[in-house]
Amino acid sequence: MSASAPVIAIVGRPNVGKSALFNSILGRRVSIVHEQSGVTRDRVAAPSEHFGRRFLLVDTGGLGLYNREKATDIFDGMIREQVAEVIAEASALIWVVNCQDGITPQDEEVGDFLRRSGKPVVVAANKADNDVVRAEAEGIFAALGYEHIMPTSCTHRSGISDLMDCVMELLPADDTAAEAPEERLQIAVVGRPNVGKSSLVNRLLGVQRVMVSDVPGTTRDAVEIPFSLNVDGTELPLTLIDTAGMRRKKQVDTVVEFFSLSRSEAAIRRCDIVLFMIDGTDPCTTQERRIGRVIVDARKPCVLLVNKWDLVSAEGAKARDFKAQVRATMPFLDHAPMLLISALSGYNCQQIGAQLLHVREQMRVSVPTAVFNQFLQDTLARNPPPSTGLKRFKIFYGTMRGCPPPRFLLFVNKKSLCPRNYLQFLENQIRDAFYPEAGMPIFIDLRERESLDNASPARRSAAGAKRQRESEYQATQRRIQRGKGMRKS
Ligand code: GDP
Ligand code: GDP
Repeated sequence: MSASAPVIAIVGRPNVGKSALFNSILGRRVSIVHEQSGVTRDRVAAPSEHFGRRFLLVDTGGLGLYNREKATDIFDGMIREQVAEVIAEASALIWVVNCQDGITPQDEEVGDFLRRSGKPVVVAANKADNDVVRAEAEGIFAALGYEHIMPTSCTHRSGISDLMDCVMELLPADDTAAEAPEERLQIAVVGRPNVGKSSLVNRLLGVQRVMVSDVPGTTRDAVEIPFSLNVDGTELPLTLIDTAGMRRKKQVDTVVEFFSLSRSEAAIRRCDIVLFMIDGTDPCTTQERRIGRVIVDARKPCVLLVNKWDLVSAEGAKARDFKAQVRATMPFLDHAPMLLISALSGYNCQQIGAQLLHVREQMRVSVPTAVFNQFLQDTLARNPPPSTGLKRFKIFYGTMRGCPPPRFLLFVNKKSLCPRNYLQFLENQIRDAFYPEAGMPIFIDLRERESLDNASPARRSAAGAKRQRESEYQATQRRIQRGKGMRKS
């Protein structure tokens, strides 16, 4: 998978429309709603793209959101520090101001703050809800001293695309623009015999199936079929690892199931995303639990497709209750999004492409260190690890190591003090915050940060020297940033 996308941070004083802009830029991309609550969740960071250029959008106004209260002042001690850290990791900034208020003293403060960062800034003159205000926007904010002032209205969804054109031009030439052609994700459709895999594969492939039927190897264990899905205008190139369609002769059931499981296993290990199909009329047999285990052990993102919904709904089942019922029998795949489909009628099969696109986006989310630590702080404040014995498990800080799948490293006082289930809890929290509805496995590694009290004198002095070097490095960085800011202003 390609390198992580550049960070674009939305900054500005409260109430100018940062969150509104965040949602407007993401557009339909936030439309995947949370199953239980039925509402689109608030998010601080989300991947997006503009004409094929990928980026991670961060709403600094949302830092602190995990406390369920919005930061009222970005200069509120800790929040200010967090915002500064996000800015340091950003490649470009969108500074939101409010046309209805003009330049306020607080905007000027924000301006000083941003200038010191030396980062490219585009001013979004928001709440430019009509032509008159749009025409005046540049004049109103010229005194801020920034070249790029783009009028936007989140209410009317206007000016957003022009704003993003401008931001894209300011991103450093790079890495993602000259990206290799989009990688094909490998998809495995797995499930026990007769759940409807062939029917679904035929439906997904449509006419393309005809083209591949002569591919040599069709009789072997699995065939790789390149194909594309068009999801609302976005082309999604995929390779299907087809384990269906190979079981031609009916054999004794158990033998069939044995071979189907080992083929499924191979496909699961090889793929990027698993489409795990189950039969709605008989959803959770031992076989399902076994395949589910393999998926979890192989740590692959997984989407649950409950097939034959036509038959189940004809019996009067309600979607919500039915989903809850299936969930209850498969707690280990609780994190996998679930679609009720009918491969036969095509019901909901369109959603599969949208869901795969969503998972692909989530697989690329790289959480900036500052955002991750803010999240950790809030999570730990809300749900501190229960103490075991006299000593308490402590997490000092954390960082993301890579993806996919997302891997995080936490620096802790002592691994053995980590309460049972606490890592599981953190995994779920990380998944909810940064990888919602993607069935994504999350890895957390713990590393003990050596307590200097117990360290040898040599170790202590080495650590002291390292800290000294780090602080000198940071001071130099700050000087450089200040220098850049002065030159720009
Ligand atoms: P934040 O605190 O900067 O994140 O601001 P919000 O996104 O929460 O928006 C603050 C208020 O401004 C909300 O009531 C929004 O509905 C409103 N708002 C946001 N964008 C616009 C806009 O383009 N025009 C108008 N008229 N109101 C807007
Ligand atoms: P596979 O063994 O998993 O590849 O399953 P098949 O695609 O061969 O389907 C097994 C049987 O289930 C066939 O008779 C299909 O027509 C039927 N089937 C597949 N999907 C559906 C569906 O959504 N609804 C209904 N009612 N039958 C289905």
